[in-house]
Amino acid sequence: MYKSDGVLQSSDVPLPDEKILKKGKIAIIECVENIPCNPCETSCPQGAIKIGENICDLPKIDYSKCSGCSLCLAVCPGLAIFALNKYIDENRSEITIPYELNTSLEKGMTVKLVNRSGKILGNGEISAIRELKIQKKRKLVSILIPRELINEVRHFMV
Ligand code: SF4
Ligand code: SF4
Repeated sequence: MYKSDGVLQSSDVPLPDEKILKKGKIAIIECVENIPCNPCETSCPQGAIKIGENICDLPKIDYSKCSGCSLCLAVCPGLAIFALNKYIDENRSEITIPYELNTSLEKGMTVKLVNRSGKILGNGEISAIRELKIQKKRKLVSILIPRELINEVRHFMV
């Protein structure tokens, strides 16, 4: 489907297994095009992301090394990485998304959750906003979402 309509499906980019998701906050990469790009690899302080000698290869994460620091979200030019903390509380997960619009956001704000094709799925709550020194036009926005939507929610609308 992705090749025909340009929209990824959750089956194209499956989440890591449950043992890894239980670790806490981790980076999830949805990078599927073989383009010459590697800031995710060079920026990771843990050496958790590997592309290798061919810069057009796709990045791979070693989850035994990922600390969830989110630095790779700050530098990825394709906005192809987000962070997920599946078990943030009893019913919800937290997703952290790189955000480049000039919209006024506040912690506690209710936002519309959208899937990869922009369809509204329900409401979420902004739990944190992190300004970035290395990317002044980008911030990292964390949102609490219903846990059953972790395969679907990939952005939000105000
Ligand atoms: S979240 Fe931090 S530790 Fe994990 S892959 Fe990204 S930069 Fe590396
Ligand atoms: S920085 Fe982003 S777009 Fe570039 S290879 Fe890494 S994940 Fe893909």
